[in-house]
Amino acid sequence: MMTIMTSCRTNGVGWSRCLLLLQCLCLSLIVSNAVADTYPRQPGIDALNYIFRLTLSDDTDEIEGEATIDLRFIRNDLADLTLDLASASGGKGMRVSEVLSGGASLRFTHESDRLRIVLNSPAKAGERRQFVVRYRGIPASGLRILKNKFGERCFFSENWPNNARQWLPMIDHPYDKAMSEFVITAPAKYQVVANGLLQEETDLGDGRRLTRWKHSVPIASWLNAVGVAQFAVHHAGPVKGVELQTWVYHQERDAGIAYFETTSRQAMEFFSDYVGPYSYEKLANVEAAGFGGGTEHASAIFYGENSIITRPGTGLIAHEIAHQWFGDAVTEKDWDDVWLSEGFATYFTLLFTEHYQGRDAFVEGLKRSRDSIFTMEKKNPGLAVIHNNLADMKLVLNQLIYQKGSWTLHMLRSLVGNDKFQAGIRDYYRRYRDINASTDDFRQVMEENSGRELSWFFEQWLKRAGSPVIEGGWRYNPATKRIEIELTQMQPGDPYRLPLEVGIKIDNTAAIKIEKIEITQRQQRFEIALDKEPSSVALDPNTLALMEARFINR
Ligand SMILES: [Zn+2]
Repeated sequence: MMTIMTSCRTNGVGWSRCLLLLQCLCLSLIVSNAVADTYPRQPGIDALNYIFRLTLSDDTDEIEGEATIDLRFIRNDLADLTLDLASASGGKGMRVSEVLSGGASLRFTHESDRLRIVLNSPAKAGERRQFVVRYRGIPASGLRILKNKFGERCFFSENWPNNARQWLPMIDHPYDKAMSEFVITAPAKYQVVANGLLQEETDLGDGRRLTRWKHSVPIASWLNAVGVAQFAVHHAGPVKGVELQTWVYHQERDAGIAYFETTSRQAMEFFSDYVGPYSYEKLANVEAAGFGGGTEHASAIFYGENSIITRPGTGLIAHEIAHQWFGDAVTEKDWDDVWLSEGFATYFTLLFTEHYQGRDAFVEGLKRSRDSIFTMEKKNPGLAVIHNNLADMKLVLNQLIYQKGSWTLHMLRSLVGNDKFQAGIRDYYRRYRDINASTDDFRQVMEENSGRELSWFFEQWLKRAGSPVIEGGWRYNPATKRIEIELTQMQPGDPYRLPLEVGIKIDNTAAIKIEKIEITQRQQRFEIALDKEPSSVALDPNTLALMEARFINR
């Protein structure tokens, strides 16, 4: 459904209002009901390209569509195939008038949001065919037709996570990425923005304009986007060779350009340098109506009209631009792995903060994030980052996926070291750019780049519910000249394997001596040789471990 909570895709370094709403709605989510991603995949076909021709009007909310779907068959002798498309119900949804292939009409059935197309001859593996679907209807969601905050009519898509089917016949799941083209006919007072490059604008002479955008890089269904409104459009020139554009309501032209462009330039530069080349043909930041937060559509990011311009935007913009690399270019193979999108965008926003604002701001963000994880885990004791309840797609996201996913990357960076972490990230992006990856794919790349076995790490932080609770203390033994540390893991279940730093201050100076230990047992004792009694000893002084700790001088 297309309410604030599911379309609010970001929280940046702080919390967005809608993410908190999302958190509240996830309280009943428990692992005992866990159902993995159940989407009915079609291994016999591969969608290559979609062309969506749509006519929009000011007189009616009904849209008229013609979709051309270009498919390759992977198996022999398929007799039919199925596309997702909302069926007509209660005056909304789509009615299909005909399906064609090679100029011939095909038989089809359209019920329960599935359009089953019967082939007129069995397909051979490797064969490519095009199918044309003609349809019309009022979208129940997916394409919002509404008035913006200035009372002007507008049209904005919101496909996350599986609402593309509400107005576009397609394989509506991230696993089958395809190129796409939008050919929009609309009243000429509107500008139209979509994914990819602008190919055509033609005034039709009847008060309407045809606009064609073509996206030449394969993307997941939810990342397709169309925005139609009375925009001010600013072409901000290239950044790292990519055209940067701002699309804001004409009433907010100056403030909107100022809001987006500096941060976007910084984010494009930082993520390109850190991760690898940007994957798409342009980047448009688009002000949009009908939802809060932002949605990371490939090359055309939408930001809710009430979440931007009058509010600080650095974290939100950096989060959505980070998604162009993670979520968009590298897409999770199924919904169980959505942390590969949201956890990455959240941590890369923190890395952006570290790069431009310094270590203190970065650590502040980590601490806020850590607190929110503990709050969320106490309210949802069975919840883990992976293997959540996907029977209800409204619950595909929760705060743990963002924050604990992000913290998992932070601890991985600390475990393998900065250089190997970055090398692994770059390798992962290079290998999986414009296709799909699983958590196991990411783990394998990081193992190869770090030379470490990491399955324990991924299991512990992504599939286990809860976080370590550490209690303990220290004292200095002047006879042996040693600091004696005792630690107990208080959380239920097996002990965690937890590499930890101990920070030792001598003489109350600012300098901290760091010693590394690793807790693997429920109760453990460590001794650190030191000639002189320290003034203080702290666990995890550099904010590298996800744990609740009580640690005192005994
Ligand atoms: Zn996000």
